[in-house]
Amino acid sequence: MHTDNRFAEEIAENLRRIWTNIGAAARRAGRNPAGVTLVAVTKNVGVEAVRAAITNGAAVLGENRVQEAAEKFKAIGRSAEWHFIGHLQKNKVKHALEIFSLIHSVDSWELAAEIDRKAELAGMTVPVLLQVNVAEETSKHGVPPLEAENVARRISALRRLRLSGLMAIPPYDPDPEKSRPHFRRLVEIRNGIALLKLENTRLNILSFGMTGDYEVAVEEGATHLRIGTGIFGERKT
Ligand SMILES: *Cc1c(COP(=O)(O)O)cnc(C)c1O
Repeated sequence: MHTDNRFAEEIAENLRRIWTNIGAAARRAGRNPAGVTLVAVTKNVGVEAVRAAITNGAAVLGENRVQEAAEKFKAIGRSAEWHFIGHLQKNKVKHALEIFSLIHSVDSWELAAEIDRKAELAGMTVPVLLQVNVAEETSKHGVPPLEAENVARRISALRRLRLSGLMAIPPYDPDPEKSRPHFRRLVEIRNGIALLKLENTRLNILSFGMTGDYEVAVEEGATHLRIGTGIFGERKT
């Protein structure tokens, strides 16, 4: 376990650098940096490091596995906000609703319907983002771009879901500029859905941008950046 100050100081420094870069990218784009939320992705990161990030200003944590998140949640509780960013299995929905205040990764109509059922039983309303497979990669989750409007329309009819925006994970490329057309495509899809004027729908969130491409993401209008490696260093897996 890295409990030493040097380790905490590295996390603090990484966060400071990222916020500085976000500020610069926002200014280039004529945006207010306050409109950008940093989601610190804590998958495979231990509780001590998560605590160090929270102490140094990380207010939102992103996890991609319910079980792993649940263990850290026991130690950390609601001193930060928890967002789910991974592929959610239907049998984990109930548990996920106990921890996460936003699900970035609704990647099918079936999952949306299951979240609605479990939210109804729990008497709650759940904000969700629709994950779009912008590059149409067979290996990736998410609805195909051409189906996004149709799925959004069906989700808008679910009483317990609030469709709050879209999420995407472009193909990894060491050149961040390669992500830009994918981000633009997601914004176009969002604009198309907005024209439908669906009920229960407010598409104010755009979740895209990771360690390698978050500055481009800010320039293209991201409201939520999901950053892991840039804060905590390379993951061990
Ligand atoms: C792991 C992960 C991230 C963070 O990736 P980094 O490159 O480490 O910043 C973002 N989004 C999702 C969905 C992830 O699974």
